[in-house]
Amino acid sequence: MSELPTRLIHHPYQPPAGFQAITVPIYKASTVIFPDVAALRRRDWTQKAGYTYGLQGTPTTFLLEERVASLEGGRYCTLVPSGLAALSLVDMALLKAGDEVLIPDNAYGPNKAFAEGELQAWGITHRYYDPMSPADLAASMSDRTRLVWLEAPGSITLEFPDLPALMAVIRARQPAPPEGVIAALDNTWGAGLAFNAFDAGVDISVHALTKYPSGGADVLMGSVVTRDEALHRRIQYCHMRVGHGVAGNDAELVLRGMSTMSLRYAAQDAATRTLALWMQQQPQVAEVRHPALPGSPGHAAWQRDCSGAACLFSVIFKPEFEQRQIDIFCDSLQLFKLGYSWAGPMSLCVPYDVPSIRRRPWPHAGGLVRFSVGLEHVADLQADLAQALTKLAG
Ligand SMILES: *Cc1c(COP(=O)(O)O)cnc(C)c1O
Repeated sequence: MSELPTRLIHHPYQPPAGFQAITVPIYKASTVIFPDVAALRRRDWTQKAGYTYGLQGTPTTFLLEERVASLEGGRYCTLVPSGLAALSLVDMALLKAGDEVLIPDNAYGPNKAFAEGELQAWGITHRYYDPMSPADLAASMSDRTRLVWLEAPGSITLEFPDLPALMAVIRARQPAPPEGVIAALDNTWGAGLAFNAFDAGVDISVHALTKYPSGGADVLMGSVVTRDEALHRRIQYCHMRVGHGVAGNDAELVLRGMSTMSLRYAAQDAATRTLALWMQQQPQVAEVRHPALPGSPGHAAWQRDCSGAACLFSVIFKPEFEQRQIDIFCDSLQLFKLGYSWAGPMSLCVPYDVPSIRRRPWPHAGGLVRFSVGLEHVADLQADLAQALTKLAG
């Protein structure tokens, strides 16, 4: 009989036989145990034929990878600890010194910060293009262009680009991927539900699973999905070398959230359109940005290419309202809390200084507030906006 410390580890526990539940078990491991040296030497983490080490996946994370790949209409998925890690993984996997990456000027800010920081330091240059102008993208491309980022719509200002037109510009360059220019879409807004990224022609879809797939505002995770195996291998090898991994508990939360995400997406879409339309009618408001609103930049492309919209809209106030007054408006909101992120149960808002986050001219003098609509009753949210608007004049 072994001593207690040993018995605490070598306990006789076996999972209950025949426990066929709807829920997914959470597998957690740093390493797995190999039965013999030959098996250890035979290990192959690349093909998912077996398990080798926690960073390379567990039954829980393999299942989530399959579900995310099928959500997005892709074939291969790599999981990382955040949406931002997914963006930077694509850059690290595909770019080398001397290459150039093109980023839409309205892209998610930290994607630009990674280009200006790490990529710049590694000898990889970047250029910001106007995503609403395929001609500007064409003019921005050079023989050094290896990767083009796309985002639909752009973060904060919510312009919806003509993705097929941008893809036509990218595909006009030779050679074709994976050696030539690769198109990577930040697909967090569409979430695999509003449109199919791969049918739109992109090579890579990046998704902040932190947003809709989780839905709980309680987990950070990102994914990189491809249809092309060679491209996936480049991403997967880089992923292995930099040491990204996701925790079993987090993977389980996302798996659990994914089963309700299409319902949440539709409900939040409907509420968001109601509030965006209502805000558009308020006298303090110069412009409301939401791809489904006629007159919002890229509305026609959105209408042609999408079957839904996410829970974001942005309000540009009339220029007579100073930032100080807009801050009072934001502070007066009761249900809309001040916070980044979105697609969780609670409504959020953030005031942005747009000229400081984009390189190209911004034609509006009024301040902008981005709203993320949660799962509260829409009438309560509208009443909250109405009462805060009365404070704006003060
Ligand atoms: C939130 C977000 C990300 C980053 O996701 P995190 O998990 O918070 O790092 C990337 N892209 C877009 C468009 C996002 O909204």
